Amino acid sequence: GTWEIGDAQNEERHLEIQAIRKGIELGMTMIDTAEMYGYGNAERLVGQIVKGIRDDVFIATKVSPQHLGYEDVLSACESSIRRLGVEHIDLYQVHWPSYRVPIEETMKAMEELVSRGKIRYIGISNFSVEQTQKAIEALPRSEIASNQVRYRLTHRSIESELLPFCEKEKMTVIAYQPLDRGRLPSDKIPQALLDKYDMTPAQVMLNWVTHRDSVVAIPKASKVEHVEENATAVSKRISGDDYQTLSRI
Ligand code: NAP
Repeated sequence: GTWEIGDAQNEERHLEIQAIRKGIELGMTMIDTAEMYGYGNAERLVGQIVKGIRDDVFIATKVSPQHLGYEDVLSACESSIRRLGVEHIDLYQVHWPSYRVPIEETMKAMEELVSRGKIRYIGISNFSVEQTQKAIEALPRSEIASNQVRYRLTHRSIESELLPFCEKEKMTVIAYQPLDRGRLPSDKIPQALLDKYDMTPAQVMLNWVTHRDSVVAIPKASKVEHVEENATAVSKRISGDDYQTLSRI
């Protein structure tokens, strides 16, 4: 994740670049960004990082709610492509649903971008079941690859309806803020469980959230030590029983 990355200057910026490069080196090759983040600065930073290694990474970015009209989507995509310095975007996501522009108009532009080879996959973000259903109906020729929503051990509202719905539609759920912006519920995760797996609370949270095949997570880390910790969070899996125990807690 790259929210709040790319605005810093000099030394801090250098550390962010180092952290993301380390993540890629360790196999965390999906980068999530958005035109909205830092008014384009996050995309520019990602562009700088992926220069020369474009084919090794999967770039997901997002079109902002104020750009969901047909022509606006096309030009927002061009601008993102320019800032990222790439020829195409791997996953282009509608950042938030619009109450102004009909979803049919937005999705028509998304399909046009696929046929022009500007984007590979279409995604949505922050869409409810009802909004996702409408988005699916608005795309007769293409599929929606993913829905990016808030999901973590301490925020489970999607489990009742949205998560099963996305699974039924074979849509990947991209869990944002999987670490609750760094507010880890360390006191709630049993020490015995941390000891059993030799994991930190952050690693348990990432392991838990990616337990289902349908869910991937996009933690943000601008410190190399956090990146290293997160990269090894799923090198072993917590058991089904421990997953249930954590879920109950
Ligand atoms: P997050 O990933 O839940 O948490 C990031 C915070 O956790 C940072 O302060 C980071 O510190 C800290 N952290 C990372 N690894 C850690 C570790 N191992 N131990 C302790 N702390 C750790 O929050 P987020 O950045 O808000 O969300 C992740 C990404 O989701 C965003 O960057 C963005 O790409 C996406 N997102 C999407 C939406 C949407 O509407 N679609 C909304 C929000 C976020 P350091 O940076 O100091 O390493």
